Amino acid sequence: MRLHNTMTKRKEEFVPLEEGKVKMYVCGPTVYNYIHIGNARPMIVFDTVRRYFEYKGYEVNFVSNFTDVDDKIIKKAIEEGVSSDEISKRYIAECKKDMAAMNVKSATKHPLATEEICGMVDMIQSLIDKGYAYEKNGTVYFRTRQFKDYGKLSHKNLDDLRSGNRSLLVSGADEKEDPLDFVLWKPKKEGEPSWESPWSAGRPGWHIECSEMSKKYLGEQIDIHAGGEDLVFPHHENEIAQSEAANGKSFAKYWLHNAFLNIDNKKMSKSLGNFFTVREISEKYDLQVLRFFMLNAHYRSPLNFSAELMESAQKSLERIVTAAQNLQFLMKNAQTEAMTDEEKKRFEKTAEFVTAFETAMDDDFNTADAISAVFELVKYANTTADAGSSAEYLKGLLDILVKLTDVLGIIVDKKEELLDADIEALIQERQDARKARDFARADAIRNELLEKGIILEDTREGVKWKRA
Ligand code: AMP
Ligand code: ZN
Repeated sequence: MRLHNTMTKRKEEFVPLEEGKVKMYVCGPTVYNYIHIGNARPMIVFDTVRRYFEYKGYEVNFVSNFTDVDDKIIKKAIEEGVSSDEISKRYIAECKKDMAAMNVKSATKHPLATEEICGMVDMIQSLIDKGYAYEKNGTVYFRTRQFKDYGKLSHKNLDDLRSGNRSLLVSGADEKEDPLDFVLWKPKKEGEPSWESPWSAGRPGWHIECSEMSKKYLGEQIDIHAGGEDLVFPHHENEIAQSEAANGKSFAKYWLHNAFLNIDNKKMSKSLGNFFTVREISEKYDLQVLRFFMLNAHYRSPLNFSAELMESAQKSLERIVTAAQNLQFLMKNAQTEAMTDEEKKRFEKTAEFVTAFETAMDDDFNTADAISAVFELVKYANTTADAGSSAEYLKGLLDILVKLTDVLGIIVDKKEELLDADIEALIQERQDARKARDFARADAIRNELLEKGIILEDTREGVKWKRA
């Protein structure tokens, strides 16, 4: 499996730090509004990366933060006359709803910056102790030139750098030893949320948040650090400087960055005002369509958002879902159970589609080619499955289709929710079948319920059931 490492600008073979495990950190959003579909791109892309590692049998520890203390959150809180905490809690909840609707799995851990301040203070203190940071009038700065490898991720030369850094804008630049130094801790202004520290009552800089949360939940060395390409500099460059200076170890082995989602070939962003929120898009489309649209492009290619492309994604997705529904329908009505010899031979060919899918994904997560492999499978299913097919053959095809689309986070076999009354009726039918000693039928009903997520338990008081 090869992935493109921003650090080396090459595709490299993936070798995990620990066999069978992946430690992965993805920088999450700053929560002061609904997320826009540009923010959704890294969520969808790196959720797919995670799903593919899981498909390959890795255990993935996936950490993604919420930045819940920031100038923009404070500004929004002042505008609404509420606390910053209320703003961030509200938009974290809304963001989680959007993520669920896009079928983005919950992270193993979603740390909140405001709950990790103690660890950040400790990390800053250790940077001061090691000579990598200094305090001036309550502000703590990182001594950038002290870190010899500074610029290694963004391939920038220290002398060419100008300090156009988010957190630097907040504090006065005159007191710094060097314009390249960036803020680790800043004192509060009137009315801002703050925490006690040895230097001032204040709050951490943005970069130290991720260094600390990554260390706390994944350890000093991780396999993959990811985010949108605008984070390469200064955010990730500064994270590397802080983490490696504090821990004395190389930080992340592989750095993955997605390209922008554009609109009219300009980056979609809140500050330009040229964005659609995920919520707005959900009023017009199932968010599976948005997900499918995003995955039709390679994650390192810029992607232009347009209504036409969304319509075309919707149609393509429908073809896959229809094929799955068709297989389900045929399965229900199949006349024979086991595969014939001819079907067995036909089924062997499906391995080619799986191989094509894996080859594409192994090549730096080429989801566009992986989707082509899914379409080949769909075409094959549409041409080889019919009312005369055995249930086993149909199920075989459907299982592969579900397995591959699940890697992409696309749901093709929406299970119909069974109503309580239907469940009770099936349980009664099973009891009747048992009384009539028709155990095959009784077992079939039990399995049918199990497939729909209903678990039966035979107790002395009778049959009990619960939803899985
Ligand atoms: P922010 O809330 O601005 O820190 O962004 C959260 C994540 O969304 C980061 O990984 C950004 O790089 C990413 N992001 C923001 N805008 C876009 C965009 N238009 N296209 C792709 N990724 C984006
Ligand atoms: Zn980060």
